[in-house]
Amino acid sequence: MAHVVILGAGLGGTIMAYELREALSRSDRISIINKGAKYSFVPSNPWVAVGWRDRDSIEVDLEPACRKRDITLYPQGARRLHAAENRVELSDGAFVDYDYLVIATGPELAFDEIPGFGPAANSHSVCHIDHALDAKAAFEKLLRKPGPVVIGAVQGASCFGPAYEFAFILEKALRDAKVRDRVPMTFVTSEPYIGHLGLDGVGDTKGLLESALRSKHIKWITNARVKEVGSDKVTVEEMNDDGSVKVAHDVASAYTMMLPAFRGVEAVRDIEGLTNPRGFILVDKHQQNGRYPNIFAIGVCVAIAPTGKTPVPVGVPKTGFMIESMVTATAKNISALVRGEEPKAQGTWNAVCLADFGDGGIAFVAQPQIPPRNVNWSSQGKWVHAAKVGFEKYFLHKIRSGQAEPFYEKLTLQVLGIDKLKAVTFDED
Ligand code: FAD
Repeated sequence: MAHVVILGAGLGGTIMAYELREALSRSDRISIINKGAKYSFVPSNPWVAVGWRDRDSIEVDLEPACRKRDITLYPQGARRLHAAENRVELSDGAFVDYDYLVIATGPELAFDEIPGFGPAANSHSVCHIDHALDAKAAFEKLLRKPGPVVIGAVQGASCFGPAYEFAFILEKALRDAKVRDRVPMTFVTSEPYIGHLGLDGVGDTKGLLESALRSKHIKWITNARVKEVGSDKVTVEEMNDDGSVKVAHDVASAYTMMLPAFRGVEAVRDIEGLTNPRGFILVDKHQQNGRYPNIFAIGVCVAIAPTGKTPVPVGVPKTGFMIESMVTATAKNISALVRGEEPKAQGTWNAVCLADFGDGGIAFVAQPQIPPRNVNWSSQGKWVHAAKVGFEKYFLHKIRSGQAEPFYEKLTLQVLGIDKLKAVTFDED
C-alpha cells in the first residue's frame, strides 16, 4: 500500500489527485496538502477584476469532492518539505509522511524584485483571487476618476497571455462604462516583440496581437525593464539588443496591472538537487526529480529553460493543457512505480491556449511548445470568448465532481488530434 501526497491543490494538483485515484488501487492512500480547502479558478481572475465574476462563482469547496474520492485533505498548508526524510511539515507543526510526493505549488509572486511593485504597493494583480478583488475596487475608482492605465508583464515574467487578456478586457469594460475616451492605455512588456508570449510566437500571434492593440488604441513598449512603479507613473527602460538602454520612459499611470516574475514557493525552495536557484523544481522527461526519485512536479512550479536569449529576460509559460499533460504522465509513472515497474510516460507539454478579449479573443496551439513545431496555429474571433466561458464552466464542473478526464473530453481531444502523452519510441526510452 502506497501513500501519495500532492502538495498544492490548484489547477494541476486537484486533477492530479483525481487521476491518481483512478490509476492507483483503492488500498493506496492519496492526500492533498493545500493552503485552504477551496479551489480557485485562476484563469477567471481577469474577469473578477472588472466585476464580471465574483469569488463564489469561481471557487469550489474541495472537502466534498475529496471525501467522495477517498482523498485526505490537509488545508493547513505546508511550512517545509523535508525531502531526505520523505515528509512534509505542515504550518501547524504536524508532519505528513509519504512514499511519493507530487509538488504542484504553483508560483510565488516576486513583486519585491521591483520597487513600488505589487498589490501591497502601487500596482494591481490578477494572479490571485484576493488581488483580483482589490483590483476590482481600484477599477471602480478609475471609473469615477478616469486617468491613464499601464498593463503588461515585467522582466522575468513567464505568463503573458493574462496580461494581454486583461488589457483587452479592461478596455472593453471601460468602453461599456463610456469612459474609455478619458483613459489612455499603454501595454508595457518584457517580450522582444508583441505576441512573443515567452514562446517566440505561435502562428501569427505577433500580427494578430499588434493589430488588436492598434485597433483598440493601446500603445505599447516592448523589451521593457521596469525600474519602479510609482503611484502616478511607471518608470521603464526600453532596452537594445546589446543590453544598453534605448529609451527611458516615465509612463503616466493612475492604474497599473503587470504580471510579476515567478519563483518557487518557500516551503520547497533551496533544497539541494531538488530546486534550481529560483526555487523551481528540477524534473526529467518523466516529471521525476533526479536526486529524489520519489518526488515528481507538475505545473507552474516546474523548472523550464527559456526558449532563447532575449534583451530582457522572459520565461516560458506553463498553460493549463500543458499542465494536464504533466498530470497524466505523472499519474501513469507513479502507478508504474507502485507496481514495481519503470516510469515511462512523458507529457507532450503542448500549449493549447484561449486568450479572451471580453468580446472576442485569440486561440493558439503549439505542438511542441518550443519551436520548431509540428503544429504552429493561431486564430481569432468571437468564438474564443464563448470557448473560454465554456472552459471555465467545464473545468469547475470537473473539480466539483471529482472527475479527472471524462469520456467526452478524451473523445474531443482525440478528434482534434491533441495528445497529452508522447508516443514513446525505443530511441527515447
Ligand atoms: P496554481 O493553480 O497556482 O496552484 C498552486 C496551489 O498550491 C494553490 O492552491 C496554492 O494555495 C498551493 N500552495 C502554494 N504554496 C503552498 C504551500 N506552502 N502549502 C500548501 N499549498 C500551497 N492557463 C491557461 O491554460 N489558460 C488560461 O486562461 C490561463 N489564465 C491564467 C490567468 C492568470 C491570471 C494566471 C496567473 C495564469 C493563467 N494561466 C492560464 C496559467 C496556468 O494555467 C495557471 O497559473 C494555473 O493556475 C497554474 O496551475 P498550478 O497548479 O501550477 O498552480
